[in-house]
Amino acid sequence: MRILVVEDEAGVAGFLEQGLKESGYAVDVARDGADGLEYALAYEYDVIVLDIMLPKMNGLELLREVRSRRVKSPVLLLTARDGVDDRVRGLDVGADDYLVKPFAFPELLARIRALLRRPPLQTGGTLQMGDLEMDAAKREVRRGGRLIELSPREFALLELLLRHPNQVLSRTQILERVWNFDYYSDTNVVDVYIGYLRRKLDRGGDPPLIHTVRGVGFRLSGDVRDE
Ligand code: CA
Repeated sequence: MRILVVEDEAGVAGFLEQGLKESGYAVDVARDGADGLEYALAYEYDVIVLDIMLPKMNGLELLREVRSRRVKSPVLLLTARDGVDDRVRGLDVGADDYLVKPFAFPELLARIRALLRRPPLQTGGTLQMGDLEMDAAKREVRRGGRLIELSPREFALLELLLRHPNQVLSRTQILERVWNFDYYSDTNVVDVYIGYLRRKLDRGGDPPLIHTVRGVGFRLSGDVRDE
């Protein structure tokens, strides 16, 4: 597993490089956005850890550029505590997850492992998260064997979440993919449908599967994790 770290602060970059190497990963470090872009295009990394504030080219520009060139490596953004706008923008241009600085190294490792566990995007077959199963071809959803009736819109929303497990999806991303609304549409409809899905999926003390990521969006995950 090879990880690219794009980070200009020497202390943070050195700490990440050493820690990731000790955890068994191969690591390349780029110290500005232009070098980061060159590395990201030259090699198909298993994960890219990307700071946003970078010299020469910022992390969001870099991300937009690599996604436009169809680089599929999962990207974990490092953001400032007050950077909610950056997080939303980052997810909208193709980041897979983010971590707020300063962070604890074990949390970084956990996020990286979650990104590495993500199956490659599938176009059919059975999708699964814990005891939740979707047969996309038969349009059937079951939790713990119990058949769950969903409207077409609820089904589409759940399918999107299942195809991006452990990944935060912003309301805008969800709107664009499930409703085909334009950017100015009311994102409240996403919250309403998430509420419908939760009521149908979680019954009698089932652990919740759809987690709200405050100020950003939603994540389907079997782990219970505070946001
Ligand atoms: Ca920086």
